Amino acid sequence: MSKAYNIAVLPGDGIGQEVVPEAVRVLKAIADIYGHSFQFEEMLVGGAAIDAYGTPLRDEDLEKCKQADAVLFGANGGPKWDNPKAEVRPEQALLWLRKGLELFANLRPVKVTDSMLDASPLKPELVKGVDLVVVRELTGGIYFGQPSKRWEENGQRHAVDTLYYSEEEIRRVVRTACDIAMSRRKKVTSVDKANVLSSSRLWREVATEVAQEYPEIEMEHILVDAMTMHIMRAPKSFDVIVTENMFGDILTDEAAMLTGSIGLLPSASLGARVKENGIRPGLYEPIHGSAPDIAGKGIANPTATILSAALMLRYSFGLENEASSIEQAVSKALSEGKATADIVRDGKALSTREMTDVIINYIY
Ligand code: ATP
Ligand code: MG
Repeated sequence: MSKAYNIAVLPGDGIGQEVVPEAVRVLKAIADIYGHSFQFEEMLVGGAAIDAYGTPLRDEDLEKCKQADAVLFGANGGPKWDNPKAEVRPEQALLWLRKGLELFANLRPVKVTDSMLDASPLKPELVKGVDLVVVRELTGGIYFGQPSKRWEENGQRHAVDTLYYSEEEIRRVVRTACDIAMSRRKKVTSVDKANVLSSSRLWREVATEVAQEYPEIEMEHILVDAMTMHIMRAPKSFDVIVTENMFGDILTDEAAMLTGSIGLLPSASLGARVKENGIRPGLYEPIHGSAPDIAGKGIANPTATILSAALMLRYSFGLENEASSIEQAVSKALSEGKATADIVRDGKALSTREMTDVIINYIY
């Protein structure tokens, strides 16, 4: 029996306003084919909300996002609001959303289909068949630890940041990684710096304990410096990679380069809450930003946002067939060279809307 799902839609700024409506069209097509009921509620966020309301996200809209089953987010910011010293800034919205929705696990799948081999900066034989997910802890670690400050003493400038984790913060994100691995190839690579950092020794200890809850999963531990090499040298050997906030920040960008194309990669952020009906709310967004250089031209690649919508179906709603249907439709479009100008360079490039039409046409 199909359920009704409430989706908060936050296009934001720049190309966010062009690609998010396309992902919504894809979701509507899925609803028609599979007989689901998706209810969309659109809200302003980022610079658009600053212009309209004087704040990047109104309290009442944050509240609606908390009530929703999932949030589909575009991008924040642009030259118009580029002032790091301003009291209200577009990027604050995303931080408030992460905090308000308690999103502690950030997921970035990196899958290289044959149609993407040309775009990759690496050798095709190296990246062909890569299919991994990086799970990054999002609310702890050195970005949030206290003290974080600078001061002057004896005519010298000093600064400190603190890398702190509790065992519960580690446990829940490693469990999320293991849960994801259970429906994949059942391999988890936990990345740390346990030869130097106390927080990493705790990380490795807790990760090892969590692995005992999942006897079918093979867990390995790799030091982060070595990991930066392994990702480039043998990306196919990884299934699910889990790591703390700062290491994850760096490794997700590195892993994104395996595909060489920023317009293609989706992301998901999950919290701890699971509703009575089994829905696990989350926030879904492309990894790219607002791309001011191409905004308003109707040429942005909608793929990353459409694939983010597929992740929403898989991870928040548990609709695996529907998610796969979108993913194969995207692969098919790309493999036939039916894509936007960032991928297709010989004058046959499609517009944002045309590419989405092709994808919708390939959904089954
Ligand atoms: P932000 O600070 O919001 O992350 P940014 O400038 O760092 O912005 P992006 O907005 O992601 O990064 O843009 C980086 C480059 O990639 C730009 O040249 C942009 O045009 C291009 N780009 C980003 N997303 C897409 C897309 N969906 N389709 C085509 N090109 C894109
Ligand atoms: Mg950026």
